[in-house]
Amino acid sequence: MNILIINAGSSSLKYQLMDPDTGVVSAKGLCERIYIDGRLTHSANGKKVVKDIPMPTHSEAIEAVLEILVDPVDGVIKSTDEIDAVGHRVLHGGMEFFDSCIINDEVIAAIEKCIPLGPLHNPANLMGIRACQAVMPSTPQVAVFDTAFHMTMPPVAYRYAIPTEYYKNDSIRRYGFHGTSHKYVTKRAIELMGRKDIKLVNCHLGNGSSMSAVKDGKCQDTSMGLTPLAGVPMGTRSGDLDPAVVQFIMNKYGMSADECLNMLNKKSGVMAISGVSSDFRDIENSALSGNEDCALALDKFAYEVRKYIGSYSAALGGLDCLVFTAGVGENSASMRARICQNLEYLGVKIDPEKNEVRGKEAIISTDDSKVTVWVIPTNEELMIAQDTAELVKAAK
Ligand code: ADP
Repeated sequence: MNILIINAGSSSLKYQLMDPDTGVVSAKGLCERIYIDGRLTHSANGKKVVKDIPMPTHSEAIEAVLEILVDPVDGVIKSTDEIDAVGHRVLHGGMEFFDSCIINDEVIAAIEKCIPLGPLHNPANLMGIRACQAVMPSTPQVAVFDTAFHMTMPPVAYRYAIPTEYYKNDSIRRYGFHGTSHKYVTKRAIELMGRKDIKLVNCHLGNGSSMSAVKDGKCQDTSMGLTPLAGVPMGTRSGDLDPAVVQFIMNKYGMSADECLNMLNKKSGVMAISGVSSDFRDIENSALSGNEDCALALDKFAYEVRKYIGSYSAALGGLDCLVFTAGVGENSASMRARICQNLEYLGVKIDPEKNEVRGKEAIISTDDSKVTVWVIPTNEELMIAQDTAELVKAAK
């Protein structure tokens, strides 16, 4: 089977052609500068090509992708009929979507309804969907939502303690993001542990970071909220904050709410505390050369992640399995060790030698650790391809 995975942004579009059974990616690439001029970067058959192609809208970008996929030299298929289905990454499914689904007119209307919750991403995702429908009308399209995995949270986790009218009238509640990644590592953890009834905490630690608490394969809580700004501190996002800080800064510095939120999204996090970079490798290197602000940024990040592990263990009533994933979680042995310091009371014991692993599935806890600690590289594209294939097969 060939699944085309599309992640459409406002002026860009990423794609992969993947076999959902093997996870093998035969081609992948990126359309950039849509609406400006248009550039396609395409990798397949062991080589990369860059082409300037006019892309006045997302439709021309999709057309360019299909054209290069069937190109006799740079392509990997003979005809677009070989594409069995398209899986679209969609940011916000609001309270409309609890799982991935085959796209029809009602689904499009429901994604539109969620635009107020994902004002930057949902319109771009819809443009990608509509462009694919226009150029490949008989190919099934599937929407995979970043929020869907978290929709099993109980009200105690998703309701905010603010007047009910905002929930009822405006759907203001915790949603959570990175759901496709949390779903993928949960699925793998269950397979690797050989049982579903595990109490699991997932740490998706990258440039954006989020935590999830999972029981019996179902999400019980997650650290991001109505938007991805909540939770642990991130590359440039503040994470959790007393909301009155916003009012204080707006009043003192004459900032608008948008300006203040922009500062919290783009100028905060470990970048702000380290004063060096939003990139954890840079911060780790500077900390090693004695930069104390960088050491504090790493300690702050580890401290907040550790607090979430503790609180989620309390929420789950125990902990069987702890998973590290995404750029930092998969690659930084020192950050994993820093986070797991003082977690022995919970039954988490890291083996320093096993912890040296990078970017592959491995247990990093000691044999006598009560909690099994895993590194599981995430694969959101594979999850999208598998969901898409499953839905399309079931619909046949
Ligand atoms: P995104 O949220 O953009 O998908 P990623 O999951 O790719 O982010 O994670 C990017 C982060 O992972 C960067 O801060 C990068 O420094 C960090 N990272 C990648 N490799 C390492 C490593 N070997 N050691 C420490 N941090 C790393």
